[in-house]
Amino acid sequence: ARKPIIVGNWKMNKTIAETKEFVAAVDPKVTDKADWGIATPYLDLQAAKAAKNLIVAAEDMHFKDSGAYTGAVSAAMLKEINVEWTILGHSERRQYFGETDETVNLKMIQAINNGINPIVCVGESLEQYEANETKDVVKTQVVAAYKDIAKEDVEKTVIAYEPIWAIGTGKTATNEIAQDVCGYIRTVVADLYDQETADKVRIQYGGSVKPAGLAALLEQPDIDGALVGGASLQVESYIAMIEALN
Ligand code: 13P
Repeated sequence: ARKPIIVGNWKMNKTIAETKEFVAAVDPKVTDKADWGIATPYLDLQAAKAAKNLIVAAEDMHFKDSGAYTGAVSAAMLKEINVEWTILGHSERRQYFGETDETVNLKMIQAINNGINPIVCVGESLEQYEANETKDVVKTQVVAAYKDIAKEDVEKTVIAYEPIWAIGTGKTATNEIAQDVCGYIRTVVADLYDQETADKVRIQYGGSVKPAGLAALLEQPDIDGALVGGASLQVESYIAMIEALN
């Protein structure tokens, strides 16, 4: 069975001081019912690493080792502070920062080559959803992301299905829709590799996840976790998610 993985994506929220406060309150509450984590702004990562139980992830990472890429952060920099996870290809990166399927793939390769576990995000826009293009869109994104990723490395990765229309809108996809797409993503991975590999990879749902809906979401056969924005920011709400699985 796949262990659930629930990661808060803080986006551009929280200072170092706020990070310290959050970790001190939440980290002791973490249970082994799931892998629990937070993805934080780069500046907060070191403070977040005070956690003993929480996975700490970056929200992005560059695909080059080093060089003239103003504003970017490399795999070696993350490794130096023992950060072994990163989100890649979040829809906000794709929308506001020019992330493409190609750069997401280069970052996937760079992450794997450097011992960093990527959480790769896929998902359709409202327009694509309404045009019934969801499966085509996520298939294209998954196939592109895993180009040149070896079969034995797939289980180190996590796929997050985040319909853009459900992010920060309070409009969560129904569990049926989320399961349908996450199950489909697993068939895409099986076609790319094999069923055994597809059965190992963890697939998260993201988009307006709240503590109250978490347990039912994770009951879906192909949903192995959640990527949580807004509801991961408050200590009370994060702890409510932990308690929802106890
Ligand atoms: P919300 O949970 O705030 O909708 O954000 C989802 C998200 O984008 C997580 O990566």
